[in-house]
Amino acid sequence: MDIPRIFNITESAHRIHNPLTPEKLAILGAALRLEPGTRLLDLGSGSGEMLCTWARDYGIIGTGIDMSQLFTEQAKLRAEELGVADKVKFIHGDATGYVADEKVDVAACIGATWIGGGVAGTIDLLAQSLRTGGIILIGEPYWRQLPPTEDVAKSCLANSISDFLMLPQLLESFGNLGYDVVEMVLADQDSWDRYEAAKWLTMRRWLEANPDDEFAKDVRVKLTSEPVRYAAYTREYLGWGVFALMLRL
Ligand code: SAH
Repeated sequence: MDIPRIFNITESAHRIHNPLTPEKLAILGAALRLEPGTRLLDLGSGSGEMLCTWARDYGIIGTGIDMSQLFTEQAKLRAEELGVADKVKFIHGDATGYVADEKVDVAACIGATWIGGGVAGTIDLLAQSLRTGGIILIGEPYWRQLPPTEDVAKSCLANSISDFLMLPQLLESFGNLGYDVVEMVLADQDSWDRYEAAKWLTMRRWLEANPDDEFAKDVRVKLTSEPVRYAAYTREYLGWGVFALMLRL
């Protein structure tokens, strides 16, 4: 079981597989006022940077589940490296339908809301693992500017304009699901660059190391086209943020 190979290539050197920098990730942890011993669940935990650094900096404990074997392996190594292997656990597996045995204080899905079939479904899934009064974290794109055409949306790698909302509408949609938005940390264009531009050097190095790989042609095409596509479309039109939600009283 694994994710499509292209992600394991282009994001192999990423610690954070989303457009937040380490600083913004730390700001989010601080914003949530996490107490030592807070229990977290992270569906689609990637290379585990959120759980590992928050365990180190804020004393949280937690579990992450991710379908990439490579990222899960990297998460376990990172936990060792930061001295938090006794606080965080990483499971390689499909998080679809995953519900924790013991309720958690914070249930997160950061940049992987297809796991629950979209934002609403993912909130429902996370809610099943959440203690009363706990916090749900959702990492999700939104339109900074509405694409003028469906082609522009496709060039942002969305299927359609309707895949995402503008920021006020996204916040409103959480309210419509019965949740208060209690915090948020947003990416900006520079932090998007850290996520996207970092893939280019990784692809270039991978091509040098794997010239005869059957995937080399695809990676070459991507490396050639990505910087311009990203600058013209994603960087201009797409925003991204993590939203902290609590069920309305
Ligand atoms: N939350 C992490 C990773 C975001 S990238 C971070 O912000 O750094 C999306 C992640 O979802 C990838 O790590 C990918 O391997 C994982 N993923 C995709 N489908 C999944 C599934 N069905 N179950 C668990 N993880 C999945």
